[in-house]
Amino acid sequence: KRHDIEVKDHGINPKLVDERAMDVVHVLKQAGFQAYIVGGAVRDLLVGLRPKDFDVATDATPEQVKSLFRRAFIIGRRFRIVHVIYGRGREHEVIEVSTFRAHMDNALAEQVGGNERTSKSELAGMKHAVHSSGRVLRDNVWGPMEEDAARRDFTINAMYYDPETEIVVDYHNGIGDAKKKIVRMIGNPALRYREDPVRIIRAVRFGAKLNALGFKFEEKTSAPLKEMCGLLADVPQSRLFDEMLKLLQTGHSLASIAQLKELGMGTGIYPLLDVVVEMADDPFLKLALQDTDRRVGEGKPVAPSFLLSCVLWSDVRQGWDRRLKRNEPAMPALQDAIDEAFNARIGDVSGRGKLGIDMREIWTMQPRFEKRVGNAPYSLLDQPRFRAGFDFLRLRGQIGEIDPALGEWWEKFSTAYDDERHDMIEAIR
Ligand code: ATP
Ligand code: MG
Repeated sequence: KRHDIEVKDHGINPKLVDERAMDVVHVLKQAGFQAYIVGGAVRDLLVGLRPKDFDVATDATPEQVKSLFRRAFIIGRRFRIVHVIYGRGREHEVIEVSTFRAHMDNALAEQVGGNERTSKSELAGMKHAVHSSGRVLRDNVWGPMEEDAARRDFTINAMYYDPETEIVVDYHNGIGDAKKKIVRMIGNPALRYREDPVRIIRAVRFGAKLNALGFKFEEKTSAPLKEMCGLLADVPQSRLFDEMLKLLQTGHSLASIAQLKELGMGTGIYPLLDVVVEMADDPFLKLALQDTDRRVGEGKPVAPSFLLSCVLWSDVRQGWDRRLKRNEPAMPALQDAIDEAFNARIGDVSGRGKLGIDMREIWTMQPRFEKRVGNAPYSLLDQPRFRAGFDFLRLRGQIGEIDPALGEWWEKFSTAYDDERHDMIEAIR
């Protein structure tokens, strides 16, 4: 049942609302469509956080949305949405606009999961392809706002905010749950996890993030998590990889790892995540995770390649050390150790070319930081990824893996004038 909640009862501070998101809502409404800020942004606004990104939901189709904005692109991921772009270059901002989608998943999952008699033609009539486990493979069917709310995951993620009237539309008592600080799955949790097992990881992520604000899981929402973990085996690796990154890069990585352990889900979700959980107390990785959480908290960007190069560093370092002890030359030894770590830990995702290349570059820069003669420091400085390699070097310095003075030298060198640089290199000999 729909509840329209006024500002006196939800208390959202309009100053926290992004101007661009307001513009998108305004333009859509002017054109006669419904439009609301939706999902995580409303949740964050309600608990007083500044949302890091804003999604808009509308009854306009992607084509209609696209036609209303100068720079808008239809993006087809699992379903088609529109990216409306504001600003340029590094400062640009994307507002994601999605069309209200039907919620047939639950009914369908029940039917297909519990009733063998559902025929193929009946399913075809519902325009959905359903996995034998009851998972919805394609959910691209438009529907009314009410159904759009019902297909969302948690009650606190299923609210709609109109920044012009300042009304929050709530179908699943998200407001009540936000006030009581409860993370509650909409509908039957076990069924909803079965429909889309990625929700299991999302539960952990929101649990960890909101735990800091005093939120707790509703018992029925957390109870099935551990036993449902096995379902993640059916999820494409690329989606698991993306969810793992979100878990580690939304500013609550250490809390998420703690949450995973507490729920008994420390292993088996995704190979790289297993490494993270296993190594979380390793001084280097712990420092890297703390650093990442701090950066996200300060609104600074974090690169997946940097974080993952930290995650696999202990593997790489061990392989490298082993080879150095056999008197292999440093650089080929490092290259081999990197190949070994990639093969052992990444598998499928190594296909993500750019990411792997960036990680490799961060690592192979490390021995080059030691060579401070002739032209070498200058050419290292010219590397496009110098900053990432240098940040990595500094973390190594902080845990005493290398002499911290090396990091300080580079810090100074990277900001010095040319004549100073010359003297700095001379001084090394
Ligand atoms: P964050 O602040 O970390 O981005 P978010 O809630 O915005 O959190 P998104 O992944 O950006 O999370 O998703 C936006 C919204 O889409 C969610 O709030 C939720 O309503 C809905 N959603 C996303 N993924 C799912 C899913 N797997 N099942 C159901 N609803 C989902
Ligand atoms: Mg979001």
